[in-house]
Amino acid sequence: MEDVGFKDVFERCPSGIVITDYRLKIIDANEAAHRVLSMDSLLGRSLAEIFDEVSKVHMMTFSQYLSSGRKLCLDCRFSTSEMDGWCELSATKVKGNNTEEDVIIWSLADISIHKRRESELENLAYYDGLTGVYTRYYFLHLANLHMDKFGIEKQPFCVLVLDLDKFKQINDRYGHSKGDEILQNFASITKDKLRKSDLFGRIGGEEFAILLPNTTERVSLAIANRICHEVERFFVQMKITVSIGIASIFDRQDSIKNALERADVALYDVKRNGRNHALLSSTKVRTTNEFNNRRER
Ligand code: GH3
Ligand code: MG
Ligand code: MG
Repeated sequence: MEDVGFKDVFERCPSGIVITDYRLKIIDANEAAHRVLSMDSLLGRSLAEIFDEVSKVHMMTFSQYLSSGRKLCLDCRFSTSEMDGWCELSATKVKGNNTEEDVIIWSLADISIHKRRESELENLAYYDGLTGVYTRYYFLHLANLHMDKFGIEKQPFCVLVLDLDKFKQINDRYGHSKGDEILQNFASITKDKLRKSDLFGRIGGEEFAILLPNTTERVSLAIANRICHEVERFFVQMKITVSIGIASIFDRQDSIKNALERADVALYDVKRNGRNHALLSSTKVRTTNEFNNRRER
């Protein structure tokens, strides 16, 4: 059997290995490390310089606290002239002899493909494939975070439920793929009427929801009626309209789920009364405290 020395193992190891001093200056690097980072020459460079700002800060901070025997593991993003990618970095500090300084041994695994898949899956979970607005899951997630913030900031806000009118007939008349195109146009017209801080999601087939942070009922009603007007104007030939129910949140005992239910009740009233307009929920929040007080009486 061929005699394999340490230098051979280092060079032929399929994982990238980089050895740096404590300032992260590269002292040695094997062939796989050059391949993972798509770089011809690593010697003498700073390992941190190859990675983005966030990764750089993490590497510098963690490497300072790395003592012999302890390991660190980080997902870091790098950017070279050849490519952008992700590496999983593991590191351990090795004590030098009395005369030598400590060195850090880094192993580099290419995780670019996994990161790409992760971000594709995130996109599928967060953004609706047809309209590009938030999915039901992500809208509710962000809305619930906003509700948590309400407990601290106490700025009232409103949720809107929007439902396209007689959309079954629209599909029957124009076909399903035209229906899809209408949904895309509707989402884009509506988005144009919103601020960057507003949340907008598709919560069902032809049903959407909006959260307007720091917005009173009066202003929300005006925004909602403006959306109805814009939609009617854009689709004037096809006679496509939208109905909107609105509920406000001004009590920390309230919840997004309850507010959406109240907005849904208001929406139902709009549907029964001519469609193509917006209505505020007349149901007031009954908080847990109120409920308990009533029971005590
Ligand atoms: P209403 O005014 O009472 O809301 O009547 P509607 O016809 O809109 O309500 P209904 O709930 O009966 O029908 C909703 C329709 O929306 C049925 C369904 O075919 C259509 N729809 C749901 N999702 C999609 C979609 O992704 N694409 C298309 N083209 N149509 C969809
Ligand atoms: Mg509908
Ligand atoms: Mg519907």
